[in-house]
Amino acid sequence: MSSFVDEIMAQVREKNPDQPEFYQAVQEVMESLSLVIEKHPEYRKMKIIERIIEPERVIMFRVPWVDDKGEIQINRGYRIEMNSAIGPYKGGLRFHPTVNLGILKFLAFEQVFKNSLTTLPMGGGKGGSDFNPKGKSDNEVMHFCQSFMSELFRHIGPNTDVPAGDIGVGGREIGFMFGQYKKLRNEFTGVLTGKGLSWGGSLIRPEATGYGSVYFAVEMLATRGESLKGKTCLVSGSGNVAQYTVEKINQLGGKAVTLSDSSGYIYDEAGIDAEKLAFVMELKNVRRGRIKEYAEKYNVPYTPVDPNLDHNPLWDHKAECAFPSATQNEINNKDADNLLKNGVYVVSEGANMPTVLEGVKKFLDAGILYGPAKAANAGGVATSGLEMSQNSLRLSWTREEVDEKLHNIMKSIHKASVEAAEAYGTPGNLVNGANIAGFVKVADAMMAQGVV
Ligand code: NDP
Repeated sequence: MSSFVDEIMAQVREKNPDQPEFYQAVQEVMESLSLVIEKHPEYRKMKIIERIIEPERVIMFRVPWVDDKGEIQINRGYRIEMNSAIGPYKGGLRFHPTVNLGILKFLAFEQVFKNSLTTLPMGGGKGGSDFNPKGKSDNEVMHFCQSFMSELFRHIGPNTDVPAGDIGVGGREIGFMFGQYKKLRNEFTGVLTGKGLSWGGSLIRPEATGYGSVYFAVEMLATRGESLKGKTCLVSGSGNVAQYTVEKINQLGGKAVTLSDSSGYIYDEAGIDAEKLAFVMELKNVRRGRIKEYAEKYNVPYTPVDPNLDHNPLWDHKAECAFPSATQNEINNKDADNLLKNGVYVVSEGANMPTVLEGVKKFLDAGILYGPAKAANAGGVATSGLEMSQNSLRLSWTREEVDEKLHNIMKSIHKASVEAAEAYGTPGNLVNGANIAGFVKVADAMMAQGVV
């Protein structure tokens, strides 16, 4: 069946030159789907695979804006509307200088399967810009967001496409974009998620991705009769996902010892407790400073990024659990070896595609508890789905209600992934499980809706 994977990958490479992250995401899914294709030739006959790797629509646009010095800046904006078979397109917006078409297509592709896994009716999409919010004033960020939305607004809507946040897009950016959308459309609707509480946001949405990834780890541990209590955890990143991952680890009796940003990482052997985490939140969300300040304040080691190193030393500490929560491919081959060598046997991916393909194979071969991103970090988009439901109902659920729904969704994603992995002869392989469970629902909807 590897001929199936080779055939599809050759097509993907030919049609999408220079998009390595997209190839990586497709390859991983295709390897899992080769098991499905064997049992269900109808999917091949109806060209479901060829259709699912082709975005329904790609929008690319100019985003001009004026900076504080009065100079004109030009960025590029994108929205990938990947698949709407089971609901409106849904997925985040990323503002980061590395953003390009290939990265957003990998993210949009992953999102299709992830959203299907959540059990909620959401299609998949992703978007963003090569705009770098770092070092920009609030005024500049607002001007950029307004210009970005001045084009995007005509392509999105509460029943069409509902973007959310991702790297570089948090509450501040969602606010500026929502304001502009509302002005242009003269409509107050749930067109974006991650909104503020007083204007349509949901409780627990900021926490959801991090909490969800820890809930997923807890489900994996439970299959071995274990809990998170007393476990040492490596966490990367220090943004939205990392912060709430640490919060939930603390609540469940674990100990988080690392955090990072793109300049370096801190190692706090005593654990990043609630008080230290409050400092990180203020540092990152209000002052928008660097994680190095943590090391200065709490007198712990700080290691700056060394571009000449062939591995990330953050992943080279003794621990039981790892929660990569920064960005794609942050765990390379050597990092995977280091994690295994140091005794890590739980990896729950808060970031999207944080592990290179060979690293994933190493985790699977080692038989550790490995929760791939599209399952482990689906709590964020699931809670965005709950925000959409509350917007439609014009009601707000309590913190406890939303958290309980999130927790149940993470349990059901874990269960569906375990069951699909078993049904297709690879018990314990949650990569196959998540890919297959996510795919089948979308594929069946596409079959039912004809060639569109
Ligand atoms: P934030 O922008 O809040 O934080 C990102 C963190 O990762 C920052 O600490 C940032 O450091 C670091 N980082 C980003 N890019 C790099 C890089 N190239 N190298 C090293 N460090 C980097 O983003 P989120 O926390 O929202 O997102 C983190 C990950 O989680 C992403 O992969 C995202 O796709 C994924 N995710 C997010 C969801 C959400 O709900 N927000 C949902 C599902 C997945 P610095 O400040 O220096 O750039």
